[in-house]
Formats: sequence, structure tokens, C-alpha cells
Amino acid sequence: MGSEPPVRAGAVLDIDLGAIAENWRSLAALAAPAECAAVVKADAYGLGMEPVSKALAQAGCRIFFVASLDEGIALRRLHPQPIEIAVFNGPLPGTAREFPAFGLSPVLNDPGQFEDWALVASSKGALPALFHLDTGMARLGFSLREFDAFIARGLSNSMPWRGFISHLACADDPGHPQNDEQKQRFTAARARFPACTASLAASCGIFLGRDYHFDLVRPGAALYGVNPQSGNSNPMRPVARLKARIVQVREVDRGARVGYGAAHLMARPGRLAIAAVGYGDGWPRSMSPRGCARIGGKRVPVIGRISMDLSTFDVSAVDPSLARPGAFIDLLDEEYGVDRAAADAGTIGYEILTALGRRYHRIYRGFEG
Ligand SMILES: *Cc1c(COP(=O)(O)O)cnc(C)c1O
Repeated sequence: MGSEPPVRAGAVLDIDLGAIAENWRSLAALAAPAECAAVVKADAYGLGMEPVSKALAQAGCRIFFVASLDEGIALRRLHPQPIEIAVFNGPLPGTAREFPAFGLSPVLNDPGQFEDWALVASSKGALPALFHLDTGMARLGFSLREFDAFIARGLSNSMPWRGFISHLACADDPGHPQNDEQKQRFTAARARFPACTASLAASCGIFLGRDYHFDLVRPGAALYGVNPQSGNSNPMRPVARLKARIVQVREVDRGARVGYGAAHLMARPGRLAIAAVGYGDGWPRSMSPRGCARIGGKRVPVIGRISMDLSTFDVSAVDPSLARPGAFIDLLDEEYGVDRAAADAGTIGYEILTALGRRYHRIYRGFEG
């Protein structure tokens, strides 16, 4: 985890754990008195579950969410109790017994998962479950009808449970009427279980206001620097920086065709830098016509198609002493972060982060674990 990349590193992903911890603290302060969990699914959104979860635990986070049982087991191996770990996808058929074995709380998403869980809920080490109520997204969760039947049968008293969650479908759009509809359904459900922990908001939901906070908020993306308030300036600190080394610099003539498919035609003579990053690293191919990078702060456009291991940039306007083999070209930095890269690639910051590849040389800074 040294802070200088070795000379052989073709591309370097630099992750600021101090910024992640600071983002968690600022979200926790915004949500207080609600508690603030951290979502570390998908390898902490591509940034590394181990270093990220350790930094968050040290910052004071006590509740972690992952998507799958495998992720829960991996996280539990890194953190002995008393950190709570809840698994969004709940028990797949045949897996309920593994939750007590690893000290994991399942999120129960439908009556089938509930039935599976009921068989192991009283076993040694079984932690109280969370219930997921679908308030209008039609992804995971008990439907309101199933939830009513569940209550009518008194099942909720038959085992210990920790609380219930729901998930907002449109929280990235503060003006969307579905936010308020989902909140109202959630509030009505919550009124029946005032003693249980209730959790509705993920990153964007936290910014919809106090009445979305309930008892527990569950940010993921905002911890990692994605803007939770699209359209406004980003209140979160940037976390991921990415740079790739230039492998070759070449002069090309007017009329030269560049890259696969001869997709770019040089309208004038120029100088190109070929950098060691491509879609094999998770740098999206869809970045090809719009993306850019920076050298010494100067913007350099992507030229032609991004290939598996290489991307080509027009560096005609850059001082040749900066654009030379072995020099770095900045792909993600303070000015051009995950949200801007996502916009240029036609996706969202979440996908840019979770696609970040295994091939990067990774530097973790800002935290001594
Ligand atoms: C992924 C996820 C979150 C975290 O969402 P962000 O938008 O990344 O903050 C919270 N709750 C559920 C149910 C999720 O699936």
C-alpha cells in the first residue's frame, strides 16, 4: 500500500480512504439523530471492501450492508463482532443456515425467504432479521398486500426482528412525486412497529430532507464521491483518482485514420499519446466519442475507439516534455470526477466505480489500518 506507484505500473487507481471516512462523518452528521450505516456491496463499489470497511469502522460506522451472502461472509472475516452486517438479497433457497454461522442478518424480501428463515431463526447465533417492504419500486421486498397478510398472521411476533427497510426508486430526482408516495407508505407501515428500526434513505434519499431519514440511513455511492444531488454542486469529497501511463507518442499526418474501425479521421496533422488503459480495465468503451483526460491540467480528447488495453488521446496542444512515454495522463481527478466520466460514457458514476478493474495498481491513502 505504498503511496508511490512502481515504474512498471501502467495505470494507477488512487483511493483516498480519509475522504471516504470524512464523507461518512458528514452524512452521519446530516442524518443525526438517525444512525448512519455504510453500504459496501460490490467490493465497496469497486474500491476494495477490506481497506474501505476498515476505514469506515474506524470512523465509527457500526452497521454495514452488502448484497450477497458471499460478500457478507467475506466482510465478517475482516470484522469480528460487534459490527452488524446485513445482506440485502436475503437467503437464497438452501442458504438460510449460513447466516447464523457467520453472524449475518438477512434482509427478508418475501414470504418465501421468511419461511426459510423461520426454520433457522431460533438457532444459536441467529441475529434478528430485517424486513424489506416494497413501497413502489417493484424490485425486492414484500408487497404491501403481503406485508398486511404477514401482520394479520402475527408472524412478526414469532421471531426477533431488527427492523424494516424500503428503497426509493427516484431519489436522484428530488421533484419526483414517487418520493413522497413511497415515504407516505413507509410512514404508515412504520406506525405499526414504532419500536423497530426503520430505514428508507440511501445516498440521494438523505438529501431529500429530515423526514426521509427515519432511524437509519444507508448510503453507498455518496461515501465514494458520487454526487448525491445531481444538478447541484457535489457536497462529497472526491475519493478515486485514476491515471494511466503513456506507452507511445506518435506524429500522424492529416487524413490518418486512428484505431479500430478507422473510426477517427485526422482533419489536420497531430500528435497522439497511446495510454495504458482500456475497457479491460473497466474504462468504458462507450467513452470513445466524448471522453477526455488531462495532462498537466490541459484537456486532451479521446481519439478513435477505446480498445481493451489502450486508449488514444490527441496531445497536439500539449508540451511534448509532458506528453512522453512513461508520463501519466489523468483520467479521474478533482475536476473530472466519476460523475463527469459517467456523463461522457452515457452511464452513471455507480457503474464507472464498480467497473474499476483489477489490473490497476492501487494506492490507498489517508488511513492507517
Ligand atoms: C445499493 C443500495 C443502497 C445504497 O445505495 P446508494 O444509492 O449507493 O447510496 C441502499 N439500499 C439498498 C436496498 C441498496 O440496494
